This record gives sequence, structure tokens and C-alpha cells, in this order.
Amino acid sequence: LMRLYGPINLLASMQATALTALVSFDRVLEVLDLEPHITESPGARPLDGPEESGPVAPDILFDRVGFRYPGADEVSLASLEAAAARVPDRASEAWTLREVSFRAPAGKLTALVGPSGAGKTTITQLVPRLYDATEGSVRIGGQDVRDLALQSLRDAVGVVTQDAHLFHDTLRANLEHARRGASERELIEACEAALIWDTIRALPDGLDTVVGERGHRLSGGEKQRVALARLLLKAPPIVVLDEATAHLDSESEAAIQRALETALAGRTSLVIAHRLSTIRGADHILVVDAGRVRERGTHEELLLNGGLYADLYRTQFAQQAAGSR
Ligand code: ATP
Repeated sequence: LMRLYGPINLLASMQATALTALVSFDRVLEVLDLEPHITESPGARPLDGPEESGPVAPDILFDRVGFRYPGADEVSLASLEAAAARVPDRASEAWTLREVSFRAPAGKLTALVGPSGAGKTTITQLVPRLYDATEGSVRIGGQDVRDLALQSLRDAVGVVTQDAHLFHDTLRANLEHARRGASERELIEACEAALIWDTIRALPDGLDTVVGERGHRLSGGEKQRVALARLLLKAPPIVVLDEATAHLDSESEAAIQRALETALAGRTSLVIAHRLSTIRGADHILVVDAGRVRERGTHEELLLNGGLYADLYRTQFAQQAAGSR
């Protein structure tokens, strides 16, 4: 996800205020021309709202999804050389995802874990249609994302990355961006729930502090909590979260965990999980490796399995486990 939002940071640091006053975040994506291949289908419909008696958030279904990045199917110099040297065809390596099928249950937390480059970020990018599946389909509440009106889809999905992006503007403007016309009370409540209010209140200009490249510098953890406050204000039914990998002391970790629990409660969440506390609390864990879902289950089930997850746990999470004891 950082790859995707990197250019937005760059753009924002160049100018942002005037632009963001006029256009939404999604429009910024369009301005950057990052998704020229995504078009709204004729007759696209808005995402159905929650049923009176039904779940508060829709489920997400990946049905035999295969994915190649645009351009990945072009004949590369390497493949021509391989053909000339009569070495085995390695075309299958161009697939970033193969046969990915899973259901992220409505209102629950689904954690994605796996080695670097496995395809976790790519999976999450198919939900708000930053890319379309090459094969198979992605469905939200039973509706194929390709049949949805883009604005409705993007409104329904809140994304928080490791590299939480703040526009060069006041904290207030950054927060109001998530919910136009939010009252002072709503802004403060969101900041309180995201555990960032005490920090903001202590600033000389409070919510009117200008942040970003040339403004007050917030730490990575603080920025991510502002992003969480924005998420709470936006209150989307679906959340995609790439957890921070940076080491946090256990006090900050516990604070972030509480803020996350509030932000994710009742929402259908896909979390690229780097924290043991998140994966332990997940309703469902998908272990992704080399573009495929290799294992699935709860933390305990997967540990008992003694497979890839158990290995990952030993190498990545055992230290955290020791620290949290
Ligand atoms: P990490 O934990 O390191 O973030 P990940 O599991 O999220 O890894 P992805 O970022 O989804 O993995 O990457 C999966 C594969 O797709 C990698 O081989 C990566 O190099 C490739 N890839 C990612 N983005 C692009 C892109 N825009 N164009 C082409 N290939 C890409």
C-alpha cells in the first residue's frame, strides 16, 4: 500500500491545500492517473445499504481470484532470453494471485499474514477496485465490485496504511475531509476514541495546528492515530488496514490496539497484520504465500496445524509473544 500512496504524499507535499479543498481523495487518485484501467460499468449501482434486520456491514467474497498486474503479461526480455535458452517457461510467475478464494465475514476482522511479497497488499487493493481481478470475482454483500458505482464503493471502504497521509493543512481540515460538516464535538470524540486528542489538545493551536511537510511534524504513530480518527468520522462499513511494522513500546502498542478495536468494531475488516495482538484477536486468519491462500483458521487452529503459520509465528511473532508475557 505504501507504493500506492507514495505518489500522493509527493503530490501533497508539492501543493495540496488548494487542490484538496476542491477535490476528494479519490479525485486525487484520478488526477494521478493511477487507475486508468478502472472504469464504471454502464448501469453501475450503488452498494446496497444494510438490511433492517441484517448485518451492519456486508461480507467480502473472493471467488477464485487470479491477478496479474497490468503489463505483467507483456513479453519480457527475460522470458525471451529464457525461450532462446530453452529453459522452462516461467510465465506462471507473472501471476501475483492465483485461485484466491475466501469470505471475510460481515462485521468481523479477517487478518492477512504471510511473508513479504506474498500478495497481501494486492488482495486488499482489489476491494476498493484500485485494480480489477484478472480472473474470478470480488463481491461485497453479494454484489460484484465491477457492477458498483465507483463513488459508492470508495465511500464504503476506509483505508488506513502504514504511511498515513496528512494533507498540508490544519488538523481540523484533515479530519473534516473524512466527514463534511462534522461538528466540533464529533471531531473531538473521534480524536478521543483514536487516542490522539490529548496530543492535539496540548498543541498551542489545537485542532487549528497546521500539519504536514512544512507544518507541525507528528510522529508516525500520531499520524496513524489521526488516520484512525478520520476513519471513525468516515465510519465506512468496510475497513482495509495495513498495520505499522515499526517497533512500538508495549504501552503504545496497547494504546493503538484499543484505538483499533474501537475503529474496527462492527466493520468488515481486512487487516494486514504484523501484531500478535491483532492476529490473536482476529476472527479469521488467512495465510498468504506466493499469491495463494495456503492456510486459514484461528490462531490456535493454525498453530496446532504445525504448517506455514506455525513457522511464521515462530520467526515473526514469538518475540512479541515473549514481550507481552
Ligand atoms: P509486504 O508484506 O512486503 O508488503 P505483500 O504480501 O503485501 O508484501 P504485495 O505488495 O501484494 O505483497 O506484492 C505481491 C507481488 O506483487 C510482489 O512480487 C510485488 O513485487 C508485486 N507487485 C506489487 N505491486 C506491483 C505493481 N504495482 N506492479 C507490478 N508488480 C507489483
